[in-house]
Amino acid sequence: MRIFGGAIFILSAIIAAIIFLLPEPEGFPILEYHQVTDEVLDPDFEVYNVPPAEFAAQLDYLQAEGYTTITLQDFMRVVHGKGALPDKPIILTFDDGYADNYKEMLPILEAHGMTAVVYVITNEVGKKNYLKLDELKDMQRRGIEIGSHTADHLPLTSLDATTRLNQIRDSKIFLEWSGLQTIYSLSYPNGAFNGDIEKILHEENYLTAVTGEAGLNTLETNPYELYRVHIRKPRFGLTEFKFRLWKAKFFAKVRNIF
Ligand SMILES: [Zn+2]
Repeated sequence: MRIFGGAIFILSAIIAAIIFLLPEPEGFPILEYHQVTDEVLDPDFEVYNVPPAEFAAQLDYLQAEGYTTITLQDFMRVVHGKGALPDKPIILTFDDGYADNYKEMLPILEAHGMTAVVYVITNEVGKKNYLKLDELKDMQRRGIEIGSHTADHLPLTSLDATTRLNQIRDSKIFLEWSGLQTIYSLSYPNGAFNGDIEKILHEENYLTAVTGEAGLNTLETNPYELYRVHIRKPRFGLTEFKFRLWKAKFFAKVRNIF
């Protein structure tokens, strides 16, 4: 047993060393947040709540490291040949459309001169703890990109064809007919996607979709399979945040091997 454990340790150390020595991967990270709040609405989801003070410290860090936040629309413009990406781009995304994204997150974001993308579950809009339509419109006016997280947050891969199409189509139509500007981006509920779903997104005039898989993105990345790294409630402050950024890079390196 001891020999077996030792062999595993040595093997892991060798693999870690090889990965460490691989060239720096190209591409930029997309971060996946949910709530920015000190309030715990549901203890089961507490891991998704980043306290405002931690969030502000994370933005301070990104600023000090020279990152420039962009939206997915900014990214897609460059993919289609218009303009160029900044030196160190990064995209901050917020899933589900919680009310604190307006009250807590937006002021901190604006104090840093940064932008973000907020993905809303459209059948939750206006309900308790979720963003209201006028808040979404105000955010969009202030340069935040609003995207769809589908109508009901059902994992798209487990739905029949009609329901799947409705979830994708209705959420976009609801937002646009409610007076928001065109919706171009979607976040897959539970990160569940496949090739058929990507085809529907293309047909329904979505330009991008983000997954829950860690990695870095380049102009060549499939725009319907963009990588994101999840930012949870940190137990170890900024060190953990830096670790998450490193994790995106680590997965990009591993993907480059295969
Ligand atoms: Zn979600």
